Amino acid sequence: MSKLKGKVALVTGASRGIGRAIARRLAQDGALVAVHYGANRGAAEETVRSVENSGGEAFAIGAELAAPSGVQALFEILDAELRQRTGGTGFDILVNNAGIGQYSTIEDITEDSFNEVMAINVKAPLFLIQQALRRMRDGGRIINISSATTRIAFPNVLAYSMTKGAVNTLTLTLAKQLGARGITVNAILPGIIDTDMNAATLQDPEGRKFAAGLSVFGRWGETGDVADIAAFLASPDSRWMTGQLLDASGGTAL
Ligand code: NAD
Repeated sequence: MSKLKGKVALVTGASRGIGRAIARRLAQDGALVAVHYGANRGAAEETVRSVENSGGEAFAIGAELAAPSGVQALFEILDAELRQRTGGTGFDILVNNAGIGQYSTIEDITEDSFNEVMAINVKAPLFLIQQALRRMRDGGRIINISSATTRIAFPNVLAYSMTKGAVNTLTLTLAKQLGARGITVNAILPGIIDTDMNAATLQDPEGRKFAAGLSVFGRWGETGDVADIAAFLASPDSRWMTGQLLDASGGTAL
């Protein structure tokens, strides 16, 4: 498939998990992919190698997104790389995937832990989009990775779910504004996916039973389940669809 031939994509947090699967899938569809990582350069380079081994094109860029200057730093590196590789700084697809999980309840949430999860899950995507829009070509795509916990209430993931609620609102609001440029803005709301974020749950027999029981399909999700939806949203096939919050939880919310 080469639906994304000639397109340039940036996937944040693509050194592992859902981000890695999305980066690989967009590259498979023909995009040149910037594989962003926070700290683990080696893992990001593994993502790049796996893309190249499948005949795709990718490169790694590192930036700590919780740092005040992190977003700026990421785009400085991206601009330099793209100038070298494509002769300009224009790009087409931003996948806001980097994020952290956090358990918290109304009783135990602290200001520090709230600020921590807000910084990476809300502030970083907001300012990534701001920078991205200065470079994004008309007809571009913004894909935000939210969570099914914005649809199904889990009292022990309070602050995390609030951050993803903010991501949903960001998605709706910008979709309205950016239609004039032909840019679509959509969000994917995964349920439990087998990544490092859920390692503790999925290593525990009770946790596995709980996770499999949430979906109508009797299993938890794999990273590819989310990547395939992202590929659709990144492709021309989704051109008439914007401001949508797409469930990727195997029917957990039904
Ligand atoms: P993960 O922990 O495997 O990956 C998270 C990625 O974000 C990593 O690459 C990490 O380096 C990056 N990241 C985190 N903090 C960062 C920082 N300060 N600076 C730069 N990069 C940073 O988790 P995942 O499950 O692949 O999660 C990806 C996205 O999917 C997240 O936004 C998460 O909230 C969302 N999500 C995951 C699940 C799930 O069940 N796994 C469910 C719903 C939503």
